[in-house]
Amino acid sequence: MLRIVSTSYVQELEDFFRDNYKKDMEKLAEYWPDTNSIAVDYALLEKHSPEIADDLIENPDTIIKASEEALASQGLVNTEGDRVAPRVRFFNLPQSILIRNINSTHINKFVSIEGVINKITDVRPKVEVAVFECMHDGRRITVDQTGELFGKLNEPIRCPQCERNAFKLMLDETRFTDMQKMQVQEPLEALVRGEQAKNIDIWMEGDLTNKLFAGDKVEITGILRLIPPKHKSAVYSIYIHAVHVQQIECEFEEIELTEEEEAQIKEFGDDPKIYSKLIGSVAPSIYGHNEIKEALALQLFGGTKNKKLPDGMKIRADMHILLIGDPGTAKSQLLNYVYNLAPKGVFVGGKSATGAGLTATAEKDEFGEGGWTLKAGALVLASGGHACIDEFDKMGDEDRSAMHEAMEQQRISIAKAGIVTTFKSETSILAAANPKYGRFDPMSLPAEQFNIPPTLLSRFDLIFPIKDVLDEKKDRAMAQHILSAHQTSGIRGTGAEGVLTDEELARAEEKIMPVLDPELLRKYIAYARRNISPVLTPEAMSKIEEYYVDLRALGERQGTVATTPRQLEALVRLGEASARGRLSSRVEIEDAERSIRLHMFVMHEIGIDPETGMFDADIIATGHTQSKMDKVRSLESVIKNLTKEYDVVTKDMIVEEAKNAGLDVKDIDSLLAILKKDGYVYEPKHGQYRSAGSR
Ligand code: ADP
Ligand code: MG
Repeated sequence: MLRIVSTSYVQELEDFFRDNYKKDMEKLAEYWPDTNSIAVDYALLEKHSPEIADDLIENPDTIIKASEEALASQGLVNTEGDRVAPRVRFFNLPQSILIRNINSTHINKFVSIEGVINKITDVRPKVEVAVFECMHDGRRITVDQTGELFGKLNEPIRCPQCERNAFKLMLDETRFTDMQKMQVQEPLEALVRGEQAKNIDIWMEGDLTNKLFAGDKVEITGILRLIPPKHKSAVYSIYIHAVHVQQIECEFEEIELTEEEEAQIKEFGDDPKIYSKLIGSVAPSIYGHNEIKEALALQLFGGTKNKKLPDGMKIRADMHILLIGDPGTAKSQLLNYVYNLAPKGVFVGGKSATGAGLTATAEKDEFGEGGWTLKAGALVLASGGHACIDEFDKMGDEDRSAMHEAMEQQRISIAKAGIVTTFKSETSILAAANPKYGRFDPMSLPAEQFNIPPTLLSRFDLIFPIKDVLDEKKDRAMAQHILSAHQTSGIRGTGAEGVLTDEELARAEEKIMPVLDPELLRKYIAYARRNISPVLTPEAMSKIEEYYVDLRALGERQGTVATTPRQLEALVRLGEASARGRLSSRVEIEDAERSIRLHMFVMHEIGIDPETGMFDADIIATGHTQSKMDKVRSLESVIKNLTKEYDVVTKDMIVEEAKNAGLDVKDIDSLLAILKKDGYVYEPKHGQYRSAGSR
């Protein structure tokens, strides 16, 4: 197993530690044995002895052992006179490998990887040195268990004294160490678009445990090892036995820009037509939906990050957008485009993403081998980026409640089985959903057909209903657009070039080619997000203020609440994103105007009460218009009065009284349904009603 190391290696390592780690060793001696390891920089070793450094990569077990011998032989003792013999934890290897590139050539080699922790178990005790007692003659036998990570306890073969083999483990004499297991996956921002993130298991012992948390970005240095298969099989699983772990704060992929690209990016920023170019580059194969595309572009840029109020409260910078509409209106496609353009993004289907899939959970499963495992879901892993959630309306109840917190407080808490913990999820959400009955009923308000609780709805900055309406002119244009997309996409890269004339091809491509190259646009977005933090100018502030106050005043005159403070914050975020989109640190009037225009568009699409023609934020806040809520309340008081007067209140009696109160007979069923759903009225027997009491 272990190669014999030439004694010159140990001597050289002794020199190395004396030259480079003398101070650290003395310090260590002071705290020994509470601190029992020393982190050693690979770069220093490489400088001292390139040969040993190379050998460390190839034969880590041997060299680490030699290093530990070299340290122990320095003869350091602590204040109590105990010998100081620390573990050596090498880090900072010259290069880290991608998790996806790990293969059989790395077995038993020293490797370094970067990633995000997506699962982590409890810390549990593991036998390090087991003490056995022979059941026949009581002799003590000590067996070192280091390296045995898989629950199997190494027993002595036979008692050296009586040669028999029946032993008892002496738990109180056995020495334990801590043990923790986690799974690390590739950072989303390092993936080429649409790729699946790969992961690997990591085992940690001793002082490496209890340092990290699910959702952390980490750099792990360790030895790649094999897991013996449970039954006879030639296929092994792998894991990394960690030697050094470190949390990293920075973004993984500092976008690498060539000088040429940077110049190009700056040029785009100065282009007065930048916004029409951006809109033309988001989902070019999708016809129409220009406001949505503009909003999606703004979402990609996001509001100014890290804004803190003087009392320490944070203000959310991430924008949330909801597309809700008829089937086949390109919602999923739009989500796909954003996912591909976002420098860091995840795509999840609401239904498939239950539990840890979307938010975060604590679970008992095989990975934790009986203990608890904390799992970070998509929203945690995508923190700092975008999450595209399709079929948002079909999400499970548990996720839905976690979603409230994730969207506003930008964290996800878990309180379960004594585990109380929070995950960070600073993620912009782009969600797509169908209306309540699959498609919009044109006879009633879109806002009344959202199958999403109003509390969740009000957390979206912008909500776009997409209706599939018959319109011959539009249908024809869209058909031409889609057909062109199909026509041209089949030509590029299939060898069919030359089937169409150049002119035919150019005409078709003109419709669907993105204005900006997607790769460059991705870099443009990453560059803007990283380098530009826009601030409101006084002019932009008063513009937004005017708009907001006017809307509120209008609402007051009409007896409705037109806008809420949440929407004011949304306006600011949109304005900031607009400035960032043109690489400006100042939010100017034009940015405020863009933000207001989009807000107006959405208000018109969903926020108008068709009966009164008024703006009404209540629609989003409660799912019903103010005028409808007035009717609901008036029916409620009708039923309340009847309940006081009669023991049995039938539907006919309600209809009769409601007519007297000026309500329309055809509305009564739907009003009654609202009252019943909200618990103000109940039906003790079929066809009989009672008011739920005096409110
Ligand atoms: P949804 O998720 O809204 O149900 P999809 O995104 O799956 O719909 O779209 C269905 C198909 O129709 C896709 O292939 C999409 O490209 C096409 N489609 C729908 N609307 C448009 C449009 N406006 N322009 C181009 N293609 C469209
Ligand atoms: Mg869809």
